[in-house]
Amino acid sequence: MAQADSSSAEAGIRVPDFLGSLRGLGVGKVAQILERLQISERKRLGFLGRRQRNALRAVLHERAGNPDPVRPIIPLVLAGPSGVGKGTVASGVRSHRPDTFVSVSVTTRSPRPGEIEGEHYFFVPDQEFDRMERESELLEWATVHGEHRYGTPRLPVEQAVREGRPVLLEIDVQGAMSVKQAMPEIRLVFLLPPSWDALVDRLASRGTEDEAQQARRLTTAEHELSLADRFDVRVVNDDVSEAVHFVLELMGISQE
Ligand code: 5GP
Repeated sequence: MAQADSSSAEAGIRVPDFLGSLRGLGVGKVAQILERLQISERKRLGFLGRRQRNALRAVLHERAGNPDPVRPIIPLVLAGPSGVGKGTVASGVRSHRPDTFVSVSVTTRSPRPGEIEGEHYFFVPDQEFDRMERESELLEWATVHGEHRYGTPRLPVEQAVREGRPVLLEIDVQGAMSVKQAMPEIRLVFLLPPSWDALVDRLASRGTEDEAQQARRLTTAEHELSLADRFDVRVVNDDVSEAVHFVLELMGISQE
Protein backbone atom coordinates (compact mmCIF):
# COMPACT_ATOMS: atom_id res chain seq x y z
CA MET A 1 0.00 0.00 0.00
CA ALA A 2 1.19 3.51 -0.81
CA GLN A 3 2.39 5.38 2.26
CA ALA A 4 2.52 9.15 2.83
CA ASP A 5 6.15 9.18 3.82
CA SER A 6 8.39 12.21 3.50
CA SER A 7 11.46 10.03 2.93
CA SER A 8 10.01 8.39 -0.20
CA ALA A 9 10.67 9.46 -3.78
CA GLU A 10 7.09 10.70 -3.79
CA ALA A 11 7.84 13.51 -1.35
CA GLY A 12 7.54 16.24 -4.00
CA ILE A 13 4.19 15.07 -5.37
CA ARG A 14 1.17 17.25 -4.63
CA VAL A 15 -1.20 15.51 -2.21
CA PRO A 16 -4.24 15.75 -4.57
CA ASP A 17 -2.20 14.19 -7.39
CA PHE A 18 -1.09 11.40 -5.09
CA LEU A 19 -4.63 10.69 -3.90
CA GLY A 20 -6.00 10.99 -7.46
CA SER A 21 -3.60 8.28 -8.59
CA LEU A 22 -5.20 5.77 -6.20
CA ARG A 23 -7.84 3.45 -7.55
CA GLY A 24 -11.42 4.54 -6.88
CA LEU A 25 -10.59 8.11 -5.90
CA GLY A 26 -12.12 10.64 -8.29
CA VAL A 27 -11.77 14.41 -8.11
CA GLY A 28 -14.79 14.79 -5.80
CA LYS A 29 -13.60 12.18 -3.30
CA VAL A 30 -10.09 13.67 -3.30
CA ALA A 31 -11.53 17.13 -2.58
CA GLN A 32 -13.62 15.67 0.28
CA ILE A 33 -10.60 13.98 1.83
CA LEU A 34 -8.49 17.14 1.57
CA GLU A 35 -11.24 19.17 3.20
CA ARG A 36 -11.76 16.64 5.95
CA LEU A 37 -8.04 16.51 6.76
CA GLN A 38 -7.67 20.27 6.24
CA ILE A 39 -4.84 19.83 3.76
CA SER A 40 -4.37 22.55 1.14
CA GLU A 41 -4.51 21.57 -2.56
CA ARG A 42 -0.99 22.90 -3.06
CA LYS A 43 0.56 20.80 -0.30
CA ARG A 44 3.24 18.30 -1.31
CA LEU A 45 3.59 14.92 0.39
CA GLY A 46 6.99 15.66 1.84
CA PHE A 47 5.81 18.87 3.46
CA LEU A 48 2.91 17.52 5.48
CA GLY A 49 3.09 18.08 9.23
CA ARG A 50 3.15 15.08 11.52
CA ARG A 51 -0.57 15.34 12.34
CA GLN A 52 -1.63 15.63 8.72
CA ARG A 53 0.66 12.73 7.81
CA ASN A 54 -0.88 10.56 10.53
CA ALA A 55 -4.39 11.53 9.45
CA LEU A 56 -3.59 10.76 5.80
CA ARG A 57 -2.06 7.45 6.77
CA ALA A 58 -5.25 6.57 8.70
CA VAL A 59 -7.32 7.31 5.58
CA LEU A 60 -5.09 5.09 3.46
CA HIS A 61 -5.26 2.27 5.99
CA GLU A 62 -9.00 2.55 6.10
CA ARG A 63 -9.34 2.60 2.29
CA ALA A 64 -7.26 -0.54 2.13
CA GLY A 65 -9.83 -2.15 4.44
CA ASN A 66 -7.03 -2.42 6.88
CA PRO A 67 -7.70 -0.43 10.04
CA ASP A 68 -4.88 -0.55 12.57
CA PRO A 69 -5.30 -3.99 14.15
CA VAL A 70 -3.39 -3.03 17.27
CA ARG A 71 -5.17 0.23 18.03
CA PRO A 72 -8.80 0.33 17.00
CA ILE A 73 -10.27 3.84 17.00
CA ILE A 74 -12.86 4.15 19.78
CA PRO A 75 -15.72 6.67 19.60
CA LEU A 76 -15.82 8.82 22.71
CA VAL A 77 -18.28 10.92 24.70
CA LEU A 78 -16.86 13.90 26.53
CA ALA A 79 -19.23 14.98 29.29
CA GLY A 80 -18.86 17.09 32.40
CA PRO A 81 -20.28 20.24 33.95
CA SER A 82 -20.66 23.52 32.07
CA GLY A 83 -17.41 25.48 32.17
CA VAL A 84 -15.15 22.47 32.73
CA GLY A 85 -13.44 22.92 29.34
CA LYS A 86 -15.05 20.25 27.11
CA GLY A 87 -14.93 22.56 24.08
CA THR A 88 -11.24 23.33 24.57
CA VAL A 89 -10.35 19.66 24.93
CA ALA A 90 -12.42 18.80 21.83
CA SER A 91 -10.55 21.49 19.83
CA GLY A 92 -7.24 20.05 21.04
CA VAL A 93 -8.25 16.59 19.78
CA ARG A 94 -9.27 18.06 16.41
CA SER A 95 -6.04 19.93 16.00
CA HIS A 96 -4.15 16.68 16.58
CA ARG A 97 -6.43 14.65 14.30
CA PRO A 98 -8.19 17.02 11.87
CA ASP A 99 -10.31 14.18 10.50
CA THR A 100 -12.01 13.75 13.90
CA PHE A 101 -15.76 14.04 13.56
CA VAL A 102 -17.08 16.29 16.34
CA SER A 103 -20.85 15.94 16.35
CA VAL A 104 -22.88 19.15 15.94
CA SER A 105 -25.97 18.91 18.13
CA VAL A 106 -29.48 20.11 17.50
CA THR A 107 -30.91 22.43 20.14
CA THR A 108 -34.12 24.30 20.85
CA ARG A 109 -32.25 27.17 22.54
CA SER A 110 -31.55 30.41 20.68
CA PRO A 111 -28.08 31.17 19.37
CA ARG A 112 -25.80 33.28 21.58
CA PRO A 113 -23.99 36.19 19.96
CA GLY A 114 -21.25 34.80 17.71
CA GLU A 115 -22.69 31.28 17.49
CA ILE A 116 -22.98 29.96 13.96
CA GLU A 117 -25.73 27.69 12.63
CA GLY A 118 -24.27 24.30 11.69
CA GLU A 119 -20.97 25.01 13.41
CA HIS A 120 -21.88 25.40 17.09
CA TYR A 121 -25.35 23.89 16.87
CA PHE A 122 -28.27 23.39 14.54
CA PHE A 123 -30.82 25.73 16.11
CA VAL A 124 -34.32 24.34 15.57
CA PRO A 125 -37.85 25.19 16.73
CA ASP A 126 -39.62 22.85 19.16
CA GLN A 127 -41.76 21.27 16.41
CA GLU A 128 -38.70 20.32 14.38
CA PHE A 129 -37.04 18.79 17.44
CA ASP A 130 -40.26 16.82 18.11
CA ARG A 131 -40.20 15.56 14.52
CA MET A 132 -36.55 14.49 14.68
CA GLU A 133 -37.18 12.67 17.92
CA ARG A 134 -40.32 10.97 16.61
CA GLU A 135 -38.59 9.82 13.44
CA SER A 136 -35.59 8.40 15.34
CA GLU A 137 -33.20 10.88 13.78
CA LEU A 138 -31.53 11.46 17.15
CA LEU A 139 -29.02 9.07 18.68
CA GLU A 140 -29.88 10.57 22.07
CA TRP A 141 -31.45 13.71 23.46
CA ALA A 142 -31.97 15.38 26.83
CA THR A 143 -33.45 18.46 28.44
CA VAL A 144 -30.44 20.24 29.90
CA HIS A 145 -30.47 22.65 32.85
CA GLY A 146 -34.25 22.15 32.95
CA GLU A 147 -34.50 24.57 30.05
CA HIS A 148 -33.87 23.49 26.49
CA ARG A 149 -33.59 20.26 24.57
CA TYR A 150 -30.35 19.13 22.95
CA GLY A 151 -29.80 16.06 20.77
CA THR A 152 -27.21 14.27 18.66
CA PRO A 153 -28.15 13.69 15.00
CA ARG A 154 -27.77 9.98 14.39
CA LEU A 155 -26.77 9.67 10.72
CA PRO A 156 -23.58 11.77 10.70
CA VAL A 157 -22.23 9.83 13.71
CA GLU A 158 -23.01 6.46 12.12
CA GLN A 159 -21.42 7.55 8.86
CA ALA A 160 -18.23 8.80 10.56
CA VAL A 161 -17.93 5.50 12.46
CA ARG A 162 -18.35 3.59 9.17
CA GLU A 163 -15.61 5.69 7.58
CA GLY A 164 -13.26 4.76 10.43
CA ARG A 165 -12.93 8.36 11.61
CA PRO A 166 -12.41 9.26 15.27
CA VAL A 167 -15.75 10.41 16.70
CA LEU A 168 -16.24 12.79 19.61
CA LEU A 169 -19.57 13.73 21.21
CA GLU A 170 -19.68 16.66 23.60
CA ILE A 171 -22.94 16.10 25.44
CA ASP A 172 -24.48 16.16 28.91
CA VAL A 173 -24.47 13.36 31.47
CA GLN A 174 -27.96 12.00 30.78
CA GLY A 175 -27.21 11.97 27.04
CA ALA A 176 -23.99 10.07 27.71
CA MET A 177 -25.91 7.31 29.49
CA SER A 178 -28.40 6.97 26.61
CA VAL A 179 -25.67 6.89 23.98
CA LYS A 180 -23.94 4.04 25.80
CA GLN A 181 -27.13 2.03 25.43
CA ALA A 182 -27.40 2.79 21.73
CA MET A 183 -23.65 2.32 21.08
CA PRO A 184 -22.10 0.06 23.73
CA GLU A 185 -18.63 0.36 22.14
CA ILE A 186 -18.47 4.11 22.84
CA ARG A 187 -16.20 5.22 25.69
CA LEU A 188 -17.70 7.58 28.27
CA VAL A 189 -15.26 10.14 29.63
CA PHE A 190 -16.17 12.55 32.40
CA LEU A 191 -14.10 15.72 32.49
CA LEU A 192 -13.66 16.96 36.07
CA PRO A 193 -12.65 20.46 37.18
CA PRO A 194 -9.53 20.64 39.38
CA SER A 195 -11.82 21.96 42.15
CA TRP A 196 -15.34 23.27 42.71
CA ASP A 197 -13.99 26.85 43.07
CA ALA A 198 -12.16 26.56 39.74
CA LEU A 199 -15.46 25.61 38.07
CA VAL A 200 -17.32 28.55 39.65
CA ASP A 201 -14.55 30.97 38.53
CA ARG A 202 -14.44 29.57 35.02
CA LEU A 203 -18.19 29.85 34.55
CA ALA A 204 -18.23 33.44 35.87
CA SER A 205 -15.22 34.56 33.82
CA ARG A 206 -16.37 33.25 30.44
CA GLY A 207 -19.28 35.72 30.70
CA THR A 208 -21.67 33.84 28.42
CA GLU A 209 -24.39 33.40 31.06
CA ASP A 210 -26.09 35.87 33.39
CA GLU A 211 -26.08 35.26 37.15
CA ALA A 212 -29.36 33.32 37.20
CA GLN A 213 -28.14 31.04 34.39
CA GLN A 214 -24.80 30.53 36.14
CA ALA A 215 -26.61 29.53 39.34
CA ARG A 216 -28.75 27.06 37.37
CA ARG A 217 -25.68 25.60 35.70
CA LEU A 218 -23.95 25.18 39.06
CA THR A 219 -26.98 23.32 40.44
CA THR A 220 -26.85 21.00 37.40
CA ALA A 221 -23.08 20.68 37.87
CA GLU A 222 -23.51 19.41 41.43
CA HIS A 223 -25.89 16.74 40.21
CA GLU A 224 -23.64 15.81 37.26
CA LEU A 225 -20.54 15.53 39.46
CA SER A 226 -22.42 13.06 41.65
CA LEU A 227 -22.79 10.80 38.58
CA ALA A 228 -19.14 10.91 37.49
CA ASP A 229 -18.43 7.41 38.79
CA ARG A 230 -20.89 5.92 36.27
CA PHE A 231 -18.48 6.88 33.49
CA ASP A 232 -15.81 4.58 32.06
CA VAL A 233 -13.03 7.08 32.81
CA ARG A 234 -12.66 10.37 34.71
CA VAL A 235 -10.10 12.94 33.59
CA VAL A 236 -9.20 15.99 35.69
CA ASN A 237 -8.77 19.04 33.47
CA ASP A 238 -6.05 20.88 35.37
CA ASP A 239 -3.69 20.98 32.38
CA VAL A 240 -5.43 21.18 29.01
CA SER A 241 -2.66 19.62 26.93
CA GLU A 242 -2.39 16.68 29.34
CA ALA A 243 -6.16 16.21 29.24
CA VAL A 244 -6.06 16.28 25.40
CA HIS A 245 -3.29 13.67 25.33
CA PHE A 246 -5.19 11.44 27.70
CA VAL A 247 -8.37 11.73 25.66
CA LEU A 248 -6.46 10.95 22.43
CA GLU A 249 -5.05 7.90 24.16
CA LEU A 250 -8.55 6.81 25.18
CA MET A 251 -9.71 7.19 21.56
CA GLY A 252 -6.90 4.88 20.42
CA ILE A 253 -5.17 7.69 18.50
CA SER A 254 -1.45 7.33 18.15
CA GLN A 255 0.66 10.30 19.29
CA GLU A 256 4.08 9.11 18.20
P1 5GP B 1 -24.79 25.17 26.05
O1 5GP B 1 -26.19 25.68 26.10
O2 5GP B 1 -23.90 25.83 27.07
O3 5GP B 1 -24.21 25.23 24.67
O4 5GP B 1 -24.81 23.62 26.43
C1 5GP B 1 -25.42 23.20 27.59
C2 5GP B 1 -25.16 21.74 27.80
O5 5GP B 1 -25.80 20.96 26.80
C3 5GP B 1 -23.69 21.34 27.77
O6 5GP B 1 -23.37 20.81 29.04
C4 5GP B 1 -23.61 20.28 26.73
O7 5GP B 1 -22.82 19.20 27.14
C5 5GP B 1 -25.03 19.81 26.56
N1 5GP B 1 -25.28 19.33 25.21
C6 5GP B 1 -24.89 19.91 24.06
N2 5GP B 1 -25.27 19.17 23.01
C7 5GP B 1 -25.91 18.08 23.51
C8 5GP B 1 -26.53 16.94 22.91
O8 5GP B 1 -26.56 16.75 21.69
N3 5GP B 1 -27.10 16.05 23.75
C9 5GP B 1 -27.08 16.20 25.09
N4 5GP B 1 -27.64 15.25 25.82
N5 5GP B 1 -26.50 17.26 25.69
C10 5GP B 1 -25.92 18.19 24.92
